[in-house]
Amino acid sequence: MTPNENLFDLVEVSATKHIALVAHDSRKRDMIEWCSVHKDELNKHFLYGTGTTAKLITEALSLPIKGLKSGPLGGDQQLGSLIVDGEIDFMIFFWDPLSLHPHDPDVKALLRIATLYNIPIATNQSTADFLLTSSYMTTPYVKKVINFDYYIKRNI
Ligand code: PGA
Repeated sequence: MTPNENLFDLVEVSATKHIALVAHDSRKRDMIEWCSVHKDELNKHFLYGTGTTAKLITEALSLPIKGLKSGPLGGDQQLGSLIVDGEIDFMIFFWDPLSLHPHDPDVKALLRIATLYNIPIATNQSTADFLLTSSYMTTPYVKKVINFDYYIKRNI
């Protein structure tokens, strides 16, 4: 038995992904443009988004997106909750590295929880291009996620 044998569960991500789309205000135009370029591919998956991002993408491109609350009003936390429940597989988050945001703690929490649950995250356009054109986007993928039972039995 290897020391880490029970540390992780193996979770299968299906070929059709559940993708979260989030963009800070100064990046929303970039997000719409990116979605326009990749519209056909995005149409094959289930899409979620924070309130304003989802609304603007749907209006511009008629892509069906399940809209949550606006990010600063709790939408980032809602997304984090969906990730914990295993309902999001993939996240495109065009965040703005040049501005302060009132919901910065929520943004940090979302990025932390997405990292913890081994979610692929693109925070800029080129990473998003690489991720969306990966062969894993059209096939199932098995990922490791930290095992809760192992974690709660840790030495404290
Ligand atoms: P919004 O939220 O899509 O509702 O603007 C994004 C964010 O700032 O987290």
